[in-house]
Amino acid sequence: MNMLPTYDDVVDAAGRIAGAANFTPVLTSRTVNEEFGAQVYFKCENMQRMGAFKFRGAYNALSRFSPEQRRAGVVAFSSGNHAQAVALSARLLGMPATIVMPQDAPAAKVAATQGYGGKVIFYDRYTEDREQIGRELAEKHGLTLVPPYDHADVIAGQGTAAKELFEETGPLDAFFVCLGGGGLLSGSALATRALAPNCDLYGVEPEAGNDGQQSFRSGAIVHIDTPKTIADGAQTQHLGKLTFPIIQRDVDDILTVSDDELVQCMRFFAERMKIVVEPTGCLGFAAARKMKESLRGKRVGILVSGGNIDLARFAGLIA
Ligand SMILES: *Cc1c(COP(=O)(O)O)cnc(C)c1O
Repeated sequence: MNMLPTYDDVVDAAGRIAGAANFTPVLTSRTVNEEFGAQVYFKCENMQRMGAFKFRGAYNALSRFSPEQRRAGVVAFSSGNHAQAVALSARLLGMPATIVMPQDAPAAKVAATQGYGGKVIFYDRYTEDREQIGRELAEKHGLTLVPPYDHADVIAGQGTAAKELFEETGPLDAFFVCLGGGGLLSGSALATRALAPNCDLYGVEPEAGNDGQQSFRSGAIVHIDTPKTIADGAQTQHLGKLTFPIIQRDVDDILTVSDDELVQCMRFFAERMKIVVEPTGCLGFAAARKMKESLRGKRVGILVSGGNIDLARFAGLIA
């Protein structure tokens, strides 16, 4: 059995990222509270640095590098928020970052990563294996690979968002967290079991990519093909060796929502709460809305995980 991170690691991570990460706001909406007949708290990681919670895990992991590791630098493979999180964290900590991205990655994401000082190396997603390219770069140049979710320091860092939420609101009755590879959910689970032990904790996936739900219910990690969904941050194919056992132990259930339900939440966030949330960031709210009858009279937390979306695409989706 791998050594699983604990809540003590989340506390240590909070100390390391303090001053570098934003202490993100917790928003409430009278409209939502009336719709639910409940008190609902939104932890807004769309307002985190680089636009998503991933900064927390990346900065925590990189700040634990030895002097030699810092000199050689970090490598990551991602076309999404993890790439930007690693590039920005590396720049803040004064180390080089190499990011392996697919040739057809959105130009805005490539530009953002380069803008943070990351060196981008492209690969062909149909013929090449990015993990292998990452590992080869790591070996050849002595770089340290930081994976997007299956890493104890990444999990502990991601758990700091839920820690902040519970410290602000006190214990909650139910908490909804977006689920891709499970770094955010497993870190949130460590914080939840420490600070709100009786809270019902739910992971939420896109319907088309319910590998986490299948894994949770069958008791073994299920692998799927890359799912077709607008929730690009949750297009993962499987949970991790570290994230899965924590999720199995500490999470109450895994729920799913459709792309249409995500779009309705994006529109609600923009129109009523005046915030830009990317499709993946809407997973938690969409699931809570579907079961609002059972949340009546309760205190509910929702993790809004990120806000990085090309504005033209955003407009197209909510139009
Ligand atoms: C990465 C990401 C997720 C999923 O996080 P995991 O740790 O992979 O489960 C959810 N939302 C956003 C915005 C992300 O960038």
